[in-house]
Amino acid sequence: MTFKVDSNGYYGQYGGAFIPEMLYPNIQQLKQSYLQIIGSSAFQNEFQQLLKYYVGRPTPLYFSHRLSKKYGTKIYFKREDLCHTGAHKINNTIGQILLAKYMGKDRIIAETGAGQHGVATASVCALMGVKCIVYMGSVDIKRQSPNVARMKMLGAEVRAATSGSKTLKDATNEAIRDWINNPEKTHYIIGSVVGPHPYPDMVSRFQSVISQELTHQLEFLEGRSFPDYLVACVGGGSNAAGLFYHFLDNPKVTIFCVEAAGHGVNSGKSAATTQLGRPGIIHGSKTLLMQNADGQIQEPHSISAGLDYPGVGPLFAHLKDTKRAHFRAVSDRDAMLWGLELSKMDGIIPAIETSHALGVLESEKFNKDDIIVFGCSGRGDKDLDTYINYFEL
Ligand SMILES: *Cc1c(COP(=O)(O)O)cnc(C)c1O
Repeated sequence: MTFKVDSNGYYGQYGGAFIPEMLYPNIQQLKQSYLQIIGSSAFQNEFQQLLKYYVGRPTPLYFSHRLSKKYGTKIYFKREDLCHTGAHKINNTIGQILLAKYMGKDRIIAETGAGQHGVATASVCALMGVKCIVYMGSVDIKRQSPNVARMKMLGAEVRAATSGSKTLKDATNEAIRDWINNPEKTHYIIGSVVGPHPYPDMVSRFQSVISQELTHQLEFLEGRSFPDYLVACVGGGSNAAGLFYHFLDNPKVTIFCVEAAGHGVNSGKSAATTQLGRPGIIHGSKTLLMQNADGQIQEPHSISAGLDYPGVGPLFAHLKDTKRAHFRAVSDRDAMLWGLELSKMDGIIPAIETSHALGVLESEKFNKDDIIVFGCSGRGDKDLDTYINYFEL
């Protein structure tokens, strides 16, 4: 069994490139050039330099003494929250802005939900001095105003998506429309392991720096290069894909993916895509998708904007089908409480997305000597208002 993409862009039955004809040349160019560009030593030199001096990599692998003692097992956090701009998303935007440069594109478009991917994209566009347009649902523009201000300050233009539910999937539709209208000089930086082939594979490769570092850090700290358990939250799946990448073929590593249950998996207000979804096509890719009997997309709900997506990267649909990964869903309420727990126990205020992952400490049994690595995908600054209102701080 393989968990790498095949030459047609599929993970098992999921993936592919279901795109309008107008986008065919763009996707074709990307497909034909991405492996060669990413594999070149010129690209790798620039990528590694920026990851080190701009992003601040390698990120620490941090052992939590207090949580380990309390839950009777060995708990580590891979600290992507310490990346520049506060989350793992910058690993991917650095990779894609360089790719755009090598392909001769000087106009960047992106979609964003909570604004984290928008800020990461606007930052690397400023870094490279290229034009940046970020599509964002008008509802999200209102509720994520600090990130809108950040993007503007970084020189990006924020354009409102006013169709549908006026959130992430609508912003993605607008970005795709823009790309169709501006095929020549524009590169579309997708923010997760979603979209048509080769995006899921390309974004996974850029994020795989996380598991690459982890193998060395575990070897140094524990004398072996792999953990017993890996745990990550899954929205589209990019932080999870990065954490798992070098361990997917190692059966000794047990993998947990944690989705957002929202108000409860069967409450009608949930984003537990792999539990509720059926195969369908969203944003150019065949994957598990929350939809009603007519195939209309079901609006997702999660308290964390980063997990509030009705689909999931095709790799994760495959991990679910093959049972390579175990899927769990953690509610809004439990995620908030786990966020508080990590804050009080370790002095780390996590993004609410990240907080979901900790739910396995309650739902699963671990042994004293087990090594568990959590992906700490982002910091909680962006969520402070939500924490304040929820806990009446
Ligand atoms: C965007 C985001 C996520 C969800 O996206 P993935 O592609 O599933 O990683 C998770 N955590 C944080 C902090 C994010 O900003």
